[in-house]
Amino acid sequence: MTPVVALVGRPNVGKSTLFNRLTRTRDALVADFPGLTRDRKYGQANIAGYEFIVIDTGGIDGTEEGVEEKMAEQSLLAIEEADIVLFLVDARAGLTAADIGIAHYLRQRQNKTTIVVANKTDGIDADSHCAEFYQLGLGEIAQIAASQGRGVHQLMENVLAPFAENLKQHEESAESAVENNENVDESDEWEHDFDFSNENDTALLDEALENEQTVEDKNIKIAIVGRPNVGKSTLTNRILGEDRVVVYDLPGTTRDSIYIPMERDGQHYTIIDTAGVRKRGKVTLTVEKFSVIKTLQAIQDANVVLLTIDAREGISDQDLSLLGFILNAGRSLVIVINKWDGLNHEVKDQVKSELDRRLDFIDFARVHFISALHGSGVGNLFDSIQEAYACATQKMTTSMLTRILQMATDEHQPPMVSGRRIKLKYAHPGGYNPPIIVIHGNQMDKLPDSYKRYLSNYYRRSLRIVGSPIRILFQEGN
Ligand code: GDP
Ligand code: GDP
Repeated sequence: MTPVVALVGRPNVGKSTLFNRLTRTRDALVADFPGLTRDRKYGQANIAGYEFIVIDTGGIDGTEEGVEEKMAEQSLLAIEEADIVLFLVDARAGLTAADIGIAHYLRQRQNKTTIVVANKTDGIDADSHCAEFYQLGLGEIAQIAASQGRGVHQLMENVLAPFAENLKQHEESAESAVENNENVDESDEWEHDFDFSNENDTALLDEALENEQTVEDKNIKIAIVGRPNVGKSTLTNRILGEDRVVVYDLPGTTRDSIYIPMERDGQHYTIIDTAGVRKRGKVTLTVEKFSVIKTLQAIQDANVVLLTIDAREGISDQDLSLLGFILNAGRSLVIVINKWDGLNHEVKDQVKSELDRRLDFIDFARVHFISALHGSGVGNLFDSIQEAYACATQKMTTSMLTRILQMATDEHQPPMVSGRRIKLKYAHPGGYNPPIIVIHGNQMDKLPDSYKRYLSNYYRRSLRIVGSPIRILFQEGN
């Protein structure tokens, strides 16, 4: 499970500065669920190859009538659901009553990894300024300067390393390394000047990659996500009712989603149930039932995400936020428009035109119109799930990707930049699920976005990838 890191502290200590720094590497996408999260922000982060979810819990002022009452219910939940709590204090301002109040609350949560982080240690004698924070009774004090990034990498490495066993070190680790221009996957073969028209060269590279890359196992993990009341539980029950359930009631904590293995036409699946089908019948409030963290973790852990949308509600900003997370995580996607029963043609047309308008940037995902309640269209979802998974994990080779690159550049050359033509030399696979294509060349930083989109579309068409995002990374040189 992707670990969850909560940033806690009174206002102005630097939580959002740290949040931005942690999520920056991957275009922070912030989920804003009005009415549910108040001013909390959720982001995906990838530091030192570790993937995690980070939550800025918003300002907590522990001085007012006790911390417990003052913290919003959802902020408390964020702390409860987090694996790691980074408790930020301001090294310049020193210890305050609010800090003591928050510490009191956190000390009662012994089962959490809680780290006191003294921020704003730039330009001061950090050791002497930080000494008083030992009074908080939460152990060692980590020193950082979030605005400069100083100490941040080390801090995250220290806190996340113990979770490493549970972590999937995703292909993204290679990706972020490439983005940071680190030499991760540079095998000796790639050092020499590569000639993509030379079959021996491409064969050599493919051989090197063959050993490194394994396509994911055959059990397809499906996350059914969506806003409260869109019909996730109904859909999950419908799917499980129609098919043989191998194991149903698995133990899980309140935080964890339930993983339900199932089989359909000889294919193994695991449904990641964020809606809590076990709770059916019990009276649960929407706000309690729906957990943003659960949803985000399910997305991270899934192969294919079914984004479920209520046809009667239309496409909301929250749906787009979820979509942002799914894309950012690089997950395969099937869009499910539920409650399609009993709608007249006018409403149906309205929904479809809204889809075209608001989701026009998702041109790769299949859209299904279903009724989870009546079961219509539910079976067909599995065709798209299988297709998306197959596309996300299909084998790519250096020779194949390089040939496609060659065709793309032949059809439409990259532009000239200050008298020199941008040169794209060759491409190789960088990972699967989502497919990652690494293109090497010269002046890569000058490549216009329009050309990048052209390449992305060209690869998508050539490789016939449906239902999965594609990532193209551009690497300078050989
Ligand atoms: P939040 O209310 O806890 O989210 O705090 P912010 O992230 O908004 O930061 C509050 C102020 O502290 C801003 O003016 C930041 O620029 C400043 N700040 C944040 N981190 C640092 C730091 O490492 N050093 C210094 N000198 N200022 C910082
Ligand atoms: P969840 O919060 O996303 O798990 O949503 P539920 O599965 O609990 O469904 C919320 C409400 O929508 C319930 O009253 C369901 O009966 C209803 N519902 C779910 N699917 C459908 C559908 O396909 N058509 C109609 N008309 N109602 C549905």
